Amino acid sequence: MHYRDQFKNRLNQLKSENRYRSFVELERHVGRHPYATWNSPAGPQDVVIWCSNDYLGMGQHPAVIDAMQSAIVHSGSGAGGTRNISGTSTAIVELEKALAALHHKSRALVLTSGYVANEASISALAGLLDDVVIFSDEMNHASIISGIRYVRCEKVIFRHNDCVHLETLLQAQPLDRPKIIIFESVYSMDGDTSPIAEIADLAQKYNALTYLDEVHAVGMYGEQGGGVAQMRGVADRIDVIQGTLGKAFGVVGGYIAADDVICDAVRSFGSGFIFTTALPPALAYGALASVQYLQSSTIERDRQKQQAETLKQKLRRANLPILEGDTHIVPVMVNDADNCTRICQFLLNEHQIYVQPINYPTVPKGTERLRLTPGPFHSDRMIDDLVDALQSAFSHVEAETSQQTG
Ligand SMILES: *Cc1c(COP(=O)(O)O)cnc(C)c1O
Repeated sequence: MHYRDQFKNRLNQLKSENRYRSFVELERHVGRHPYATWNSPAGPQDVVIWCSNDYLGMGQHPAVIDAMQSAIVHSGSGAGGTRNISGTSTAIVELEKALAALHHKSRALVLTSGYVANEASISALAGLLDDVVIFSDEMNHASIISGIRYVRCEKVIFRHNDCVHLETLLQAQPLDRPKIIIFESVYSMDGDTSPIAEIADLAQKYNALTYLDEVHAVGMYGEQGGGVAQMRGVADRIDVIQGTLGKAFGVVGGYIAADDVICDAVRSFGSGFIFTTALPPALAYGALASVQYLQSSTIERDRQKQQAETLKQKLRRANLPILEGDTHIVPVMVNDADNCTRICQFLLNEHQIYVQPINYPTVPKGTERLRLTPGPFHSDRMIDDLVDALQSAFSHVEAETSQQTG
């Protein structure tokens, strides 16, 4: 068997389809967000990051750094084991209390990442319900899809944010058959939000459990940063809220917030919760500091909304093809994998602007895009520079393409 040839063939296939991912090596520096040093082939260079999921710069907030530093000094580096085998630290217990309070749920459960939280929770809950059928939005994240696959139960996909379609599918099932509706509040590639209240209405009417991924919304929306469900006053109508500690909260880790029995079920049956070393105390205290800080401070959220609005206005004025949405995520459509990659290379090489191309399978083929995530630390000047750079990148790539074809 030529094992390596088979691996190489598949890698070459990825490359020929412009789907091969190349990483950009960056060093971030405390106090300089969103600048970073790019260790380019030609040596180190300053770049501005425009695609970070550290949406609010909490990854270098003094409150978070202080909490992590003192926790490391007191408790050391690792957790020492799984939650069951000596890994349940006071730090995690306190973090879970804070997360339950943030979402006004009776309990929360911390896992090692948002991905693991989805996979472990969905597989555990669905696995405990006989003959369950899962209703999943077609744009749901890979971690949700993986959690559903694990159970091998029936899965029904509804069209993105389409409640009429969802209702048709729900109607087709017996009322007493167990059902879970799984969806996200902010869809990170289109930057749109879901009709949470309407989906909760349907869940009530058809007797379904609701599971909401708020990964791109926690820390960002709602009076206390509890997400879009909190902002719209509908969090109490959602059974399970899932979030990450790695994006707006700037650390790492994932969680669910729900009632006692649901959290206990995942705690007791979730493989990805049980059989892995717990989140270390320093990370848990860092996340706790971030959650608590963003519960009371709204400066970051407000400033971010303002800068997102400014960026959208300027992109519109420059006739750049943005996908309109009601969030902080601003997709600029390119609709071609090769051009998308070339635009990003041009931005990086010629303008010291770092944006990652978003290609298939993250988005459907033909809808390739740049995904901009303006934050509170992007100045007006940076926004102007970005818009100018994008205009020249688009015309540069257009000129190149017409040369090749003409
Ligand atoms: C990033 C992401 C996750 C995974 O969260 P991590 O903490 O990064 O593992 C889950 N769901 C969605 C929608 C995401 O974008």
